[in-house]
Amino acid sequence: MTTLFIVGTPIGNLEDITLRALRVLKEVDLVLCEDTRVTKKLLSKYEISTPTMSYHAQSKLSKVDKILSLLEEGKNLALVSDAGTPCISDPGSLLLAQVREKFGDKVSIVPLPGPSALVTALSASGISVAEFTFLGFLPHKKGRETLFKEIAGSARAMAFYESPHRIEKTLASLEKFCGAERRVIVARELTKIYEEFVRGTVAEVIAHFAKNQDRVRGEFVVIIETK
Ligand code: SAM
Repeated sequence: MTTLFIVGTPIGNLEDITLRALRVLKEVDLVLCEDTRVTKKLLSKYEISTPTMSYHAQSKLSKVDKILSLLEEGKNLALVSDAGTPCISDPGSLLLAQVREKFGDKVSIVPLPGPSALVTALSASGISVAEFTFLGFLPHKKGRETLFKEIAGSARAMAFYESPHRIEKTLASLEKFCGAERRVIVARELTKIYEEFVRGTVAEVIAHFAKNQDRVRGEFVVIIETK
């Protein structure tokens, strides 16, 4: 049956890829990528020469039509994102809905599990995460304050993604709404050379980044412990 594979790829360390993912990326007719240059680095490391095509949040309808017609022709495709698991704060969900709508059960959508920054951060956080809430990226404006109030009152651990441009501002908002003593974990540059976990009260974590401005760089997952 024609298949669209949803393939998890590394979040930094290119060795974090499954044998199954490598086989599927080799066997499919085309790999749909967010940024073809990023994915080509991964493919060339493993000497995979499958053609690539970009598909991202801004992709036009004509691109979606092209993908749908490839599936109609019986081509097997793999969807990857620049890093981690597609559709997790990454493009893909809309495409899957369109594939479902057009083909129903005639095209299989098959997930290949792989890394995700969220699970990677939680797994080494050392806190009990039997239950947690994932917030994706926090809104920049509308709804931001309401969300911080929600975080402040939450009985569950909360996790979200953050960029280097906003991490200090976000920590300051956490201090304002949750108090300086609330415990947080900031996981930075997971699986990469400068991987670090900064654990402590919000005030301590703010002080850490204020003192080490060279570490206000890279990619961040923030976990807020329960009160
Ligand atoms: N789909 C990806 C996943 O499964 O993790 C997430 C994509 S989202 C567009 C990118 C965000 O994920 C980054 O801004 C950062 O917050 C987080 N992230 C991705 N790679 C990371 C890493 N190596 N270390 C820490 N956070 C990371």
